[in-house]
Amino acid sequence: MRFRSVWTMAFAAMAIGCCEARAQERIEIFDTHLHYNQEPSPFYPLDQVREVFRRNGIVGIVATSRPNKGTHELIDARWPELKVVPFIRPYRVRNDMQTWFNDPAIFELIKSEYARGYYRGIGEFHIYGKAAESDWVKKMVDFAVERNLYLHAHCDEEALLILLRHNPKARIIWAHTGFSVPPARVGELLDQHKDALWGELSYRGGITGGDSKLTDDWRDLFNRYSDRFLLGSDTWINERWFGYDTIFKEYRGWLAQLPAEQARRIASGNALRLFETRARD
Ligand SMILES: [Zn+2]
Repeated sequence: MRFRSVWTMAFAAMAIGCCEARAQERIEIFDTHLHYNQEPSPFYPLDQVREVFRRNGIVGIVATSRPNKGTHELIDARWPELKVVPFIRPYRVRNDMQTWFNDPAIFELIKSEYARGYYRGIGEFHIYGKAAESDWVKKMVDFAVERNLYLHAHCDEEALLILLRHNPKARIIWAHTGFSVPPARVGELLDQHKDALWGELSYRGGITGGDSKLTDDWRDLFNRYSDRFLLGSDTWINERWFGYDTIFKEYRGWLAQLPAEQARRIASGNALRLFETRARD
């Protein structure tokens, strides 16, 4: 009897292992860094974009585009299988990236886009060092806090800390998680800014080594902060749309090396939780 129950348990464990593995193969993904740029036309028309999302298991996107017309189109498409979370891109043309933080016209752009009523954030915007101290940046941060909008910031650590100082209630998704900021420092920042800071992982260096295995530093970070990281494609140029399948194949490769519940949080759980409720509690 005892012998038989041991075997039953062994088979049950194998079955669970098998299903866990299968579940991870098709883990649902929320792409929190998507640009559907249109200058003047997008790389893929909408029907092809939908197919790209479908074959990559994408259940949601943070939609942005330059100009914002691409975001309007993704909202208007109303695909039932996809949650679209629109962010205001504070750029009209590519060159605005260099000057937006001192440009009152960009603040007007943010206000007029916001009036559409469906936006959940502002970004991705680019800001480095003390440029973040400008009055217009502070106005934008305050505007976001007053309306429960997230900020998606592509910035260095110095600018990140200035943004957080502008308004202690700011909620910032750190694009690329600082690219190369040492993992130990990323951990400190996440500790110091609970409920205010999340790391988005596109182009983030050091997550895997040359052997495609998770590095110890990042396995450790994900162990401690699996509720604070988000995935993104960053389709800032056409090549990223062309390589979309490869980008998510790589993510799935290292997600599969994590405990299933951590992988699920990073892949989509955190994004679904962040964008579920409007109000900061
Ligand atoms: Zn970026």
